[in-house]
Amino acid sequence: MDCLFCSIISGEIPSTKVYEDDEILAFKDINPLASVHVLIIPKKHISGINEITSENAEIVAKIFTKIPEITRILSVNESGYRVVSNCGKDGCQSVNHLHFHILGGEKLSEKMC
Ligand code: AMP
Ligand code: ZN
Repeated sequence: MDCLFCSIISGEIPSTKVYEDDEILAFKDINPLASVHVLIIPKKHISGINEITSENAEIVAKIFTKIPEITRILSVNESGYRVVSNCGKDGCQSVNHLHFHILGGEKLSEKMC
């Protein structure tokens, strides 16, 4: 399967990793929109939010369980941060592998869009 984030997981495409375990990977976004901008992805390919099911939802819970730890690594846990997941065309999803943006390190816009 031709998937950019699967290639990052395999190491075929380099990334700046900030957290990794057997099931998830967090790495710096190549085009940061805030001074801290990290993507958290499941290692198992899921195309996006619309593909979350009761069979694979455990990994989504795992990602959210790890966010406090990952944001501590990024030193934004106490200052605050935003978690974003874009879905589909209107949501401006550009990579079809489920991912959660962590944005922080500065005061973010009060506008969500
Ligand atoms: P989205 O637009 O929500 O699908 O998010 C995809 C994100 O992947 C964008 O913020 C891109 O900047 C980021 N991105 C694309 N290619 C790479 C890459 N090779 N390494 C790190 N981040 C990437
Ligand atoms: Zn993938």
